[in-house]
Amino acid sequence: MDNVFESAMDSLQKAGKIADVNPKVMEYLSRPKRIIDFSISLKMDDGSFKLFTAYRVHYNDALGPTRDGTRFVPNLEMDEVKALALFMTIKHAVSGVPAGGGKGGIKVDPSKLSEWELERLTRGFIRNLKPKGPNVDIPGADIGTDYRTQSWMLDEYEQITGEHNPHAINDKPSIMGGTVGSAEATGQGIFYVTKAACKDEGIELKGAEVVVQGFGQVGATISRYLYDAGAKVTAVSDISGGFYNKDGLDIPKMQEYVKENRVLEGYKEAEEISNKDILETKCDLLIPAAVQNVINKDNADNIKTEMVVEAANGPTTPEAEEILNSKGIKVIPDVVANAGGAIVCHYERIQGITDDYWDMDEVEKRLKKQILNAYTQARAAEEKYDTTPRIGAWIVAVEKIAHAVEMRGWV
Ligand code: NAD
Repeated sequence: MDNVFESAMDSLQKAGKIADVNPKVMEYLSRPKRIIDFSISLKMDDGSFKLFTAYRVHYNDALGPTRDGTRFVPNLEMDEVKALALFMTIKHAVSGVPAGGGKGGIKVDPSKLSEWELERLTRGFIRNLKPKGPNVDIPGADIGTDYRTQSWMLDEYEQITGEHNPHAINDKPSIMGGTVGSAEATGQGIFYVTKAACKDEGIELKGAEVVVQGFGQVGATISRYLYDAGAKVTAVSDISGGFYNKDGLDIPKMQEYVKENRVLEGYKEAEEISNKDILETKCDLLIPAAVQNVINKDNADNIKTEMVVEAANGPTTPEAEEILNSKGIKVIPDVVANAGGAIVCHYERIQGITDDYWDMDEVEKRLKKQILNAYTQARAAEEKYDTTPRIGAWIVAVEKIAHAVEMRGWV
C-alpha cells in the first residue's frame, strides 16, 4: 500500500472496527469535509508568467478549527494532502488539542524561485485561498516552508483584514507572535515518548544503539537529544547518504557539519552507508525521520531492531507493520511520537490570542506533560483492545471525534 491516504484509511477503519465506533461516523470520516483546489498565477522576475497548483484540505473540524502545515514541494499530490490533514485530525485529538486537522501546499520547487518570486507566490497562496480566519483554519509550516514564508503569510492575512491577528498563522518567529521552542518541539516530543516507550518495553536508553534516517529539523534534533541522554547513535542519513560508526557517531560535530555544508555528504569521520542499508542496520531503536513509506513490504523482513519510533509522518506501510509486529517489533506511531510540533502550535495560538508570551521552561513543562498524557492514553487503549500502539492511538482519537460528531448531530 504505497498510497499514504490508503494507509491512513487503513488505520482509521481498523480503529473504528475494533472500538465499535458508530458506522455513520466512520462513513463521515472516510472523506475530508472540504477540499480547496486552486491556482496561483505568478509573474516571474523575467516578466514571464507561471501558473501553480495549490491545495488546502480541511479534513474534520468537530473538535475545533482546522489547523496545520503547508507543504511547498514539486511532487505534491492531493492524496498526500488529504492523508496529512487526516493525520493532523488524529494527532490533535489524541493529544487533547482542541483543533481539527488541515493541510495544504503548492506544487513547486522553492529552490527554483528567487526570494521575490517565493514571497509573491506565498502571498498569492493566502490571497487565493481566501482564508476565513483563525477560528476556521490556521495554516502552519511543513516541508519547504519556514519562518520567512509564515511571516509573509501572516502579513498578507493582516493586510487583507486590516487587523493584527497573530494566531491566524502558525510557525512564525517569536518577533511576529510565534512561540519559543517551536523549532525543537517535534524532536523534543519524540524524545519524551521514546524515553517512556523504552521504559515500558524494558529497553535501557543509556547505551542503546539508535539509527536515525533523516537529519533535518526533526532527525538532527532527536539524534542530539538521544546523544545527550547517553544513547549510542550508530547511524544517521539524509538525502545525500548515510554514516555509520559502531561506537556511536559524534552528533554535535555532524550538526555543525550540516550547518556549514547543508547535507551530510563529504563527512569524513565515519563509514559511509546507503539509505537502504541504514534501515536494515541492527539496532535497539530505529527512528525514520525523513519521508513516508520507507519501511515497506520489501525491507520489513530485514529490519533488525527492538522498536521503531516514527518521527516522520507515515514512514511504515500497513503491510510492513504486520511483518514487524509478527517479529515482535513495536512501532510507536507518528500520531503520538511526532505530535510535539502540533502541541506547541497550540501554545502558539494561546499566546497569540492572549498576548501573554511564555518562556522556554513553560513551553517544555507543558509539552512534556501533554505528549506523555497522549502516549499513556494510547497505551491504555492498546492494552484494553489488545491491539498495536498505532491502533490504540487512533482509537483514542476516533472515539473523541466520534463523540463530538454525534453531539453536534452531524450523523
Ligand atoms: P527537513 O526537511 O528538515 O528534513 C528532512 C530530512 O530528511 C533531511 O535531512 C533530508 O535530507 C532527509 N531526506 C529527505 N528525503 C530522504 C530520503 N529519501 N532518504 C533519506 N533521507 C531523506 O524535514 P523535517 O521537518 O525534519 O521533517 C521530517 C519528517 O518529519 C517529515 O516526514 C515531516 O512530515 C515529519 N514531521 C515534521 C514535523 C516538524 O515539526 N518539522 C512535525 C511532525 C512531523
